[in-house]
Amino acid sequence: MRARDREILLKLNKEVLWLFVTGSVVVATLVVLFLLRTPPSYYEYNGFTLGTYCRIYVSSEKINSKSLAEMLFTELDRIYKKYNANDPESVLSKINVSQDWVDLDEETFVLLDAALKFSNMTEGAFDPTLGNLIHLWGFDRLDEQDVRVPDSSEIEVALLHTGYKNILLDRQKRRAKLLNGIHIDLGGIAKGYALDRVYQIAKEVDPDCTGFVEAGGDIRIIGPKFGSRPWVIGIRDPDDTNECVGYLYLDSGAVATSGDYERYFTVNGIRYHHILDPQIGYPARGIKSATVVASTAVTADALSTAAFVLGGKNWEYVVLDFPKSGGHVLLVDKDRNIRKSPSLSVYEADR
Ligand code: AMP
Ligand code: MG
Repeated sequence: MRARDREILLKLNKEVLWLFVTGSVVVATLVVLFLLRTPPSYYEYNGFTLGTYCRIYVSSEKINSKSLAEMLFTELDRIYKKYNANDPESVLSKINVSQDWVDLDEETFVLLDAALKFSNMTEGAFDPTLGNLIHLWGFDRLDEQDVRVPDSSEIEVALLHTGYKNILLDRQKRRAKLLNGIHIDLGGIAKGYALDRVYQIAKEVDPDCTGFVEAGGDIRIIGPKFGSRPWVIGIRDPDDTNECVGYLYLDSGAVATSGDYERYFTVNGIRYHHILDPQIGYPARGIKSATVVASTAVTADALSTAAFVLGGKNWEYVVLDFPKSGGHVLLVDKDRNIRKSPSLSVYEADR
């Protein structure tokens, strides 16, 4: 090799070395900056609506997290007021008192249509027309004094005025008519619907916002913790507020639990709770809690109520067939046995 070539090679080597060193310094600085970056801070908003305690936990870098949380709470409350069967001014009450066809706004039509879809899917275990029965038991009032065990004859009469097939929906004219004096009660699905709406609004305001929103045991994930980690959700032990029977790791989607501990009263040692078996008009027996993971809160909410009703009759059907409709189930039965959909294991492992 000539002296000139050697000189060129040496110069080239030096340049490569220099590039390598500066490149490494830049990469190392970026790694350090990434590791030291402050995680987004979350704003927590607690409030009472939808007949339960609600918690909004959000973080946005686009808008003030507190303003976002307040905006989301306003939406929860709007839906509560619109579908509160106890408020004579609510949209739902106007449908319930009418003997004739009632024109529906688009949102109400979609919600009723969804409720009927879940009734059909669960052969009526989820039934949004139990208003008369729920009123008879007193579970529609927040006051503990109003609950009682009705006579069997009263239950028989109320049962005549229930049944999801008594809701007629006219798709063309976007209207509804209730037959046989039924009253709609959306307590088994409204929380889920409200949580999905909140998710939509949060994402419209800031597609990158993260957090979750919770309404009385139902949770809708808005985005992963700190943008990348799953949220860890404890499934409450139905017999002990402070214990969990399992944990779920969710970075999207929703989870809902229906439990016999949420609203109940006890007479002669028997617990009467708020989830009714539409076939008999009495609280569904055999299950203490039913948890459902799904991609939307509306599915998780409706299917958790249905899983609670059906779980005591045919738990194999619930854990094996509900996943086909998008709901992955965990049941705790009256003897504390835990029955799970095999597909639930995806959500039980930390990722
Ligand atoms: P959840 O806590 O989601 O299971 O909903 C329970 C609420 O749904 C009750 O307080 C009632 O308002 C209503 N509900 C009770 N039993 C049923 C049922 N079998 N199907 C649909 N909704 C029901
Ligand atoms: Mg429900």
